[in-house]
Amino acid sequence: MAAETADLADVREALDARMPDHRAALERLVRIPSVSAPGHDPDQLRRSAEASLDLLCEAGLEQGGLLAADGAPPAVYADWLHAGDDRPTVLCYAHHDVQPPGDEGLWSSPPFSPTERDGRLYGRGAADDKAGIVVHAAAVDAWLRARGRLPVNVKVIVEGEEETGSEHLPALLQRHGQRLRADVMVLTDAVNWRVGVPSLTYLLRGLVDAVVEVRALDHALHSGIYGGPVPDPVTGLVKLLAAMSDERGVVAIPGFCDDVREPTGAERERMRSLDFDTDRFRRDAGLLDGVELVGEPDRHPLERLWTRPSVTVLAVDAADVAGSSAQILPRARARVSVRLAPGQDARRASDLLCRWLEGHAPWGLHVTVTPGAAVGPFAAEPTGPAHRAAARALEAAYGHPAVLVGVGGTIPFVEPFAHAFGGVPALLTGVEDPDTRAHGTDESLHLADWRNACLAQALLLWELCGPGAGSA
Ligand SMILES: [Zn+2]
Repeated sequence: MAAETADLADVREALDARMPDHRAALERLVRIPSVSAPGHDPDQLRRSAEASLDLLCEAGLEQGGLLAADGAPPAVYADWLHAGDDRPTVLCYAHHDVQPPGDEGLWSSPPFSPTERDGRLYGRGAADDKAGIVVHAAAVDAWLRARGRLPVNVKVIVEGEEETGSEHLPALLQRHGQRLRADVMVLTDAVNWRVGVPSLTYLLRGLVDAVVEVRALDHALHSGIYGGPVPDPVTGLVKLLAAMSDERGVVAIPGFCDDVREPTGAERERMRSLDFDTDRFRRDAGLLDGVELVGEPDRHPLERLWTRPSVTVLAVDAADVAGSSAQILPRARARVSVRLAPGQDARRASDLLCRWLEGHAPWGLHVTVTPGAAVGPFAAEPTGPAHRAAARALEAAYGHPAVLVGVGGTIPFVEPFAHAFGGVPALLTGVEDPDTRAHGTDESLHLADWRNACLAQALLLWELCGPGAGSA
């Protein structure tokens, strides 16, 4: 197969000739601040959905439209289904919504003004996951220009609420599941092991989050006149948050880890075979001198990252330090998140987290807990024909063998859709690398790897149609 893959010279040429246009299309998408988090302008999500749809239609996909599901930000759909019933149908996934940029003043260039520096394109969504949308469009475009047809049937879905936990996925699945049905899924929203090293992700963590508010008073008080006997809700909240993990940084909520499944021998072996280097990991993370790694010390850092749960406090509302005064605040609140390990049940985890938060605030503080996202983890056995096809396509495109990795992050779409389609293989490919800083300040895309990701996707469409097919 590898030799025949190399023969797709016409498809490769068609792709490379169009890369400047794809780059321009990506920049147009990045300029739209399509933040799906609450409190941001929903019109921008509609704009980015429409821009994504235009892109897919320009590539030659058909039957394009926005998929509605009550109250959900629009998802985008388009397909090309003329390869024949004997050819598989591939569902390609990406998402057009992005995380909030945070403090824009901390960015080296404005988050929604795509800017190239040192071979990387900076901007919110430049990698996660607007680059993924263009990967799918570029692969289809290259085939249709070179050959006038695709080797497989292709459906593309571009979701609009991935970054907020895909709350409406069940509705989307119920309403449009039949239309989206496929034999294999390709989700281009994962992370490559390193720049230049293509990766297939077979483990994803899940996610639960919640907002917890504690209250002691109906108005703020002078901290000198009342402090002492009257409890401080901010201190109470901090104690509650701190008790979620132990001194090693390991989740300490009783029973929470009971359904975590231990890594299999094969998974451990794959982790050990990767050239993990603690110093490089620290550098990639930007960890300051002397700051320790946390988690269970007897477990490999990759095992902690991919196969164990972890707590993060995402936000805390109290008083701003600037302009603060000597008072006891009446209330404080925080948003907490726990990444879930393979084996864990998201509903159970969410219920347990919320009940524990309600029951463990000190001093009789009043507590309100509002549950948020609840997304299960994903684990695949990456050894079947679809994964082998993807490994061949990635190696041919990057000139480097693909490695099998986990990602500590979450893609809610994978598990329910793969399950609904009868357990079809889900291939998770990357447009990010360890320095992408997805969700953070100065998110960026490695442009040379992105071109390789586009090429890999074009080659993958051919590889997925099986030996001997697609050579027309
Ligand atoms: Zn993403």
